[in-house]
This record gives sequence, structure tokens and C-alpha cells, in this order.
Amino acid sequence: MTTKTLQTAPLAAAAARSHTPGDSTAGLVVCPTCDALYKLTPVPVGTRGRCTRCGTTLSFPRERAMSRIVMLAATSLVLLSAAVFFPFLELSAGGMTRRASVFDAALAFSTGLTLPLALATLAFIILLPALRLTLIIYALAPMSMGWYAAPRAITAFRWAEAMRPWAMAEIFVIGVAVALVKVAGLASVHLGIAFWAMVLLVLINVLNDNFMCRLTLWRTLEQRSRF
Ligand SMILES: [Zn+2]
Repeated sequence: MTTKTLQTAPLAAAAARSHTPGDSTAGLVVCPTCDALYKLTPVPVGTRGRCTRCGTTLSFPRERAMSRIVMLAATSLVLLSAAVFFPFLELSAGGMTRRASVFDAALAFSTGLTLPLALATLAFIILLPALRLTLIIYALAPMSMGWYAAPRAITAFRWAEAMRPWAMAEIFVIGVAVALVKVAGLASVHLGIAFWAMVLLVLINVLNDNFMCRLTLWRTLEQRSRF
């Protein structure tokens, strides 16, 4: 892949200290790693605009990135609903078999003192990721079809970005994998459809992040928003 650095040299960093490219104060962008300030210059599709001081990628516009992001988000949403309601694990020991979905697992803690744990599990594993994906689809789908942005698309995308660190499906899969190593010695474990849906979900999220040039997205959102 060809690499192209942003031509503009770093300006004084103190002027606009906004890490959200959406706030692009008069066409300026701040390097999130070293705080160097750049004037926005268009980067050709398929190349990368890097910070000349530290090498952090600031902009990497891709061909049809918007529709890919929307399609991957829609796929994730379907996988997430499969991951919630289909059996996640089947445990057999001593002639007894138990099957549980993520939803069952969360509800198992829904009595007494562990109620907050059940609510947190539901929120971080299911509700927040689902809400975030819905917001992404709402904000970007009309633009991916060449239309204007939906009303309040900028607010929706800002919320989706704010939720990113809190949507913890990946952490859950790692947690389950660690727990399985422990349990495998005590009972025979069968992984259900939901487990593989969750693994696929994590991989798709990684892929989606790879397509998301946030600088380009914010600029397109600003240009196409009429509201
Ligand atoms: Zn930098």
C-alpha cells in the first residue's frame, strides 16, 4: 500500500485541543498521540495520511468504506441477537446436561445482591453493543446510499463513538475462554451456536474498525448534514 504523509508541517499544538475530528475547528486536526496540529488536506483514497512527527495514521479514506461499515454493523447486529438467545454452552457431568444462553447466564444473577451484576452484564454485553450498532447504522446508512445524513446523525455518531470503550463483547469472549479452561477438567463442554456467533462478532468488529477512517467519516457527516 502506498503511503502519503500530510504535507502540512505541525502547527502550534495549543490552539485547538480537540481529539474529536468532528469538532474540526476551522479545518484543523490534532494528532491523538503527540498533539501536533495539522490543517486538513484531502488524502487520496487508498493512501494514508500520517503524522510527520510520530507516524500515527490520521486519515485513511477507503473506497466505499461507508457502505462496508453499515453492512458490517448490520451483520454484527444479527450475530449479536443470535449470540444472546441461542445456546452458548452445554455442560455435561455425571449424566446431567445443562444448556445456557448469554441471556440465561445474566438472569441467573438477577436475585438479591447480585442483581447489579446481572444488569451490568446485560448492559455491557448486549444493550450497549446493540445500541451502538443501531446508532452507527442510523448515522451512516443514508449517506452510504448517497443521500443526505439522517436528522441528528452527528449526535448519533458522537454517542456511538462515546460508547465504544463500554461495549465489551470481546472481553466477555476472553472471559468465557479463560473460564472454559477451568471448567473443561470438571465437565464435558460443548460450545453452542452463540459462542461462535460471538467470536465472529468480535472479528467483524475488528474488521469494521479497520474500515473506519474517523476523520473522513466526520467530514462527510458535516458536509452532508442539513440539520
Ligand atoms: Zn503525532
